[in-house]
Amino acid sequence: MKILVLNSGSSSIKYQLFDMESKQVLSSGLVEKIGEDSSRIKHHLSVDSKVEDIEVHEPIPDHQKGLERVVDLLLDKEYGPIESEKEVVAVGHRVVHGGETFSQPTIVDSEVLGHLNKLSHLAPLHNPANITGIEVASKIFSSARQIAVFDTAFHQSMPDYAYRFSIPNEYYEKEGLRAYGFHGTSHSYVSRAAANYLGLPLDNFNVVTIHLGNGCSMAAIKNGKCVDTTMGLTPLGGLIMGTRSGDIDPSLILYLASNKGMNIEAIDKLLNKQSGLKGLTGDNDLRNILDRYEKGDQKAVLAVEMYVYRIKKYLGAYAAALGRLDAVVFTAGVGENSAFIREKVCAKLSVVGIGLSDELNHSSERGIRSIQSDESSVKVLVVPTNEELEIANQSFELIK
Ligand code: ADP
Repeated sequence: MKILVLNSGSSSIKYQLFDMESKQVLSSGLVEKIGEDSSRIKHHLSVDSKVEDIEVHEPIPDHQKGLERVVDLLLDKEYGPIESEKEVVAVGHRVVHGGETFSQPTIVDSEVLGHLNKLSHLAPLHNPANITGIEVASKIFSSARQIAVFDTAFHQSMPDYAYRFSIPNEYYEKEGLRAYGFHGTSHSYVSRAAANYLGLPLDNFNVVTIHLGNGCSMAAIKNGKCVDTTMGLTPLGGLIMGTRSGDIDPSLILYLASNKGMNIEAIDKLLNKQSGLKGLTGDNDLRNILDRYEKGDQKAVLAVEMYVYRIKKYLGAYAAALGRLDAVVFTAGVGENSAFIREKVCAKLSVVGIGLSDELNHSSERGIRSIQSDESSVKVLVVPTNEELEIANQSFELIK
């Protein structure tokens, strides 16, 4: 049984074709710069011992054409793993915002599409592109189920006292303005993988998951369910990220508007694209920043201190929110690869029962592993995230 996972952006389509018996990725790729002169497709095939890569440069005016070309490659004698598009039984779509309507993966029909359109005001950059992806895929894979898997869904279990903003009620009641949280597919995947690894029942497992990629977020998970998360109405809140500010005093926005004459677009760009590590150091790649840190570059030192301090603060807060902490999970690019950041985050956290083993933290082992010291009452794990596999798994569960 084969499931195609699609992540459709405004000018890109990322795809992975899974074989659900073996959970292997048969083929993956990226259609980039849709609508531009320099559009291209990078396609990868990996079936048994046959591995092929191809890059196609050609005009791709829209998502429809882009997905048609992906299908050509998937069916190609040399580069494709399938012989008919009918082999794809479901297409799992990453959808950024499910609002309060969607707390589960959902089979898309015209009613669901209508709801998704209504939610676009909450994620104007992402949801319209996700919807285009669904519409195009449902024409091309007409015999497959289209399934929407939401970034926000896992966080729908948060209690109201965690997700509400203390502004007048009507803004929540009429506009849906509240914290939703994102990266839910990743937090859900790594928390379940951690419970499995530790042999603990998910419904009695309290964990803080720390997703540190270009975007960064944390979730407090009680008995397997999310009770708080750092991102809010949009993915701008919470931790310091590659280019996003994370938490700021909201009056900063008022100051920029009234004292610097900045309009909404300029402030949006400042906080989403020019802030975070980039704003502090000029670079959003933490590897480069850590190189500079080692050389004593003061901007890099401050940025790393701020980045780590924000995570520590939330760890303490979430330990308090959970009451009992069984485990902490590090995941995504930074969380999986940087022993240095893990060490700094966990340093002097014995107050919440966390201690690292230097040797385990620095081991070159890959895959899921525990890195806490013998004295640590809290397990500390590194769990590689796999959002695409989680989307495929959730889609599979739904159609089974
Ligand atoms: P995305 O959020 O785009 O999926 P990733 O999860 O791949 O991103 O994470 C990207 C981030 O991970 C970058 O900031 C990169 O510098 C960082 N990263 C990757 N490997 C390392 C490493 N060995 N040490 C520190 N940071 C790393």
